[in-house]
Amino acid sequence: MAQIRKILHFDLDAFYCAVEELRDPSLRGKAFAVGARPEERGVVASCSYAARAFGVHSAMPMSQAIRLCPKLIIVPRQHGAYEKASGQVMEHLYALTPLVERVSIDEAFLDMTGDKESAEGIALRLQDTIQSELGLSCSLGVATNKLVAKIANDVGKAEVQSNNSPHAVKVVPPGTEADFFAPLPIRSLWGVGPKTAERLASLGVRTIGHLARMTEEDLVRRFGKHGRELSYYAKGIDNDPIETVRETQSVSKETTFSKDVREFDVLDGTLLYLSEGIGRELRVEGLTCRTLSLKFRYPDFTTVTRQMTLSDATDLDYVIYENALRLFKQIWRSGQSVRLLGVSASKLNAGGEQLSLWDQGDHSKRKMQNTVDAIRGKFGNQSVRWGKETKRGDA
Ligand SMILES: [Mg+2]
Repeated sequence: MAQIRKILHFDLDAFYCAVEELRDPSLRGKAFAVGARPEERGVVASCSYAARAFGVHSAMPMSQAIRLCPKLIIVPRQHGAYEKASGQVMEHLYALTPLVERVSIDEAFLDMTGDKESAEGIALRLQDTIQSELGLSCSLGVATNKLVAKIANDVGKAEVQSNNSPHAVKVVPPGTEADFFAPLPIRSLWGVGPKTAERLASLGVRTIGHLARMTEEDLVRRFGKHGRELSYYAKGIDNDPIETVRETQSVSKETTFSKDVREFDVLDGTLLYLSEGIGRELRVEGLTCRTLSLKFRYPDFTTVTRQMTLSDATDLDYVIYENALRLFKQIWRSGQSVRLLGVSASKLNAGGEQLSLWDQGDHSKRKMQNTVDAIRGKFGNQSVRWGKETKRGDA
């Protein structure tokens, strides 16, 4: 039998805000948000727990955040300070093990399988160390794999009802993964996006436990290759190792179709969906990109990529989409079947919002973007789409 792994999911609590509180302790306990001011058309990059109590959340336009919480204090983003603090945190993680997978500036997986101490003990000690050495609060999920550890952490944080950092440690003991998952809504599971959730709901499937009772054959029949993954995930099974190689700085999204697609409308709609995902991630991180690339895979697994440099750095969905579509049209010939489509943004730079102030040419697109973000902030990411009614291939 395979060795039982000890995987930790590590996540700093309201990281940018926590760093700002260290820089200015008078912010402690107050409702504040990190990001650009509403007149600079900013979005919330991070918000304090006191601000969350008013319904403010990250990726929300600052103007909307202020309507929800009129006394909200706005703190400009100091990317350098967050990078520095993140580096210090990561040093503590690497001191425990080289098997660290850094997921983002404030999030990482650790594989502590080789350690004799209990995984819970390691997690509690690490949480203490980060608090006492760096003055930062973090939460951890502990399980036998990355999937369960990540979801354990999400659940652990949600269980803490307070206006302060959750500072949670949630352990899912080996063998109890499926039981832990059973009552959770299917949307908490990896690989269940809005569209898959909708299709599952139409079958009456709303919890992960219910999904786990469907047979693998049935799921594969309904969702293609993706169904097999769903079948494993629903039971809390995930054998993926910790990926220690750091990716070059880029944001990418891709979709493997459950059936090969040859209709332009569906491919076009998919490109738009992927572009929106990239735009959203860039804006949340306060980044812009200068290079876009398109990945394209044929049914025989031949893969083609095309890359372009933009004349101006951008974080706007529509600009990303227009250029991705241009690349797509360079490769695709009408009627050709496509198995996978991917878009990725690289040559990333901090300071997206500041840049847009000078970028008057994009002013109307920026205004439109903010309107779209505002509606999505209220009604969800799928509530409004760019351009015409679009179709999207099933991911
Ligand atoms: Mg965090």
